[in-house]
Amino acid sequence: MNTEANQDWVARSLAAVWHPCTQMKHHERVPLVPIARGKGAWLYDHEGNRYLDAISSWWVNLFGHANGDINRALKDQLDTLEHAMLAGCTHAPAVELSERLSTLTQHTLGHAFFASDGASAVEIALKMSFHYWRNRGQSEKREFACLANSYHGETIGALGVTDVALFKDAYDPLIRHAHVVASPAAAGVDEAIAAMRALFEARAAQLAAVIVEPLVQCAAGMAMYDASYLTRLRALCDEFRVHLIADEIAVGCGRTGTFFACEQAAVWPDFVCLSKGISGGYLPLSIVLTRDDIYAAFYDDDVTRGFLHSHSYTGNPLACRAALATLDLFGSANVLAENRRKSALLREALQPLAKHDRVRNLRERGTIFAFDVDIDDKTFSRRFFANALQRELLMRPIGKTVYMMPPYILTDDELALLAARTRETLDATLAEAA
Ligand SMILES: *Cc1c(COP(=O)(O)O)cnc(C)c1O
Repeated sequence: MNTEANQDWVARSLAAVWHPCTQMKHHERVPLVPIARGKGAWLYDHEGNRYLDAISSWWVNLFGHANGDINRALKDQLDTLEHAMLAGCTHAPAVELSERLSTLTQHTLGHAFFASDGASAVEIALKMSFHYWRNRGQSEKREFACLANSYHGETIGALGVTDVALFKDAYDPLIRHAHVVASPAAAGVDEAIAAMRALFEARAAQLAAVIVEPLVQCAAGMAMYDASYLTRLRALCDEFRVHLIADEIAVGCGRTGTFFACEQAAVWPDFVCLSKGISGGYLPLSIVLTRDDIYAAFYDDDVTRGFLHSHSYTGNPLACRAALATLDLFGSANVLAENRRKSALLREALQPLAKHDRVRNLRERGTIFAFDVDIDDKTFSRRFFANALQRELLMRPIGKTVYMMPPYILTDDELALLAARTRETLDATLAEAA
């Protein structure tokens, strides 16, 4: 219970830390929240104020902060092996995690390549796809396609397949652009498939892969679309021999109701990118899963036909062990069924909001809930964030889209609190003069 500690950490942070995805000058008005500790769905500051982590700390946390089971696994791993390089060496956590992820794809995606963050996983999938075609004698297949409003990360390569002007425009001269094709979330499935077919008919000989965010384009503002798009896209990719990369970094790990979002379309892509929730929100870890026949195209006496990509912390044992503990939690509790029950509760509790005269398009997929606010105000998101904090909620709207993506461990009371306080926050934000 220390007010001075709160203020002190904020002042020191603003003096020394360059915060991500932030115009730092906005912190003259927008509060910076000094987090002292976390437990379950709650984060606490140094004064003992608590905040419900309604966005899973940027969509990564699945089973709560300071989770007892994950903590135990990590403490054990810490005393066994904290890190060893994965080139030339191997270790149990990386092997077991690769095997278990392969099993989750019914062994369709039989090989796992490791990195530390989502953007790197995306770049690995792009490089692997290009290199596969090159090894197969089709080095002219070097172009990529992505969907309108797509988000695949913010390194220079990942920005090439990202279509969010806010993140991209400043770096435009540095970027090698992918083909941007109509998204089913905006254009509808038929039109989006027709647009993709038109591109494939014109450019299939040059196209290595198309990359999509299955079911929900999260960073675009939780734009949702029907699974049938993925089924039809898979068929198109087969017909024209173009790889399908599923970026499940945000939507994987049960977020949309199935472990992999692609399961709802009953298709497997050629590459799946995982990150965010896979380590339970504990440690930086990303994984690219791919088919054994793609792996086989790199298997050769010639070193340069191999995939010579690495990161220093590739397959870090602590991160892999956190992921194994996370998968154990999926296995021990009936997580996906429980999530369906909780989502039904939240849907019910949010019903009054659907009738709010400023709320548009209340939508959901799995444990993601979102609505758009009818307001013309660039400061809406920042003001909502500040008002939410005063009501013990950590929420960060994307523009005018308010969304919830809570950890899977919320109690029924916490779900009710989330719905009620979201409503209060919205009304308080709308009542303020902008
Ligand atoms: C977050 C995210 C990324 C990038 O992951 P980082 O770990 O932030 O680099 C890529 N794709 C999607 C769909 C994401 O949500």
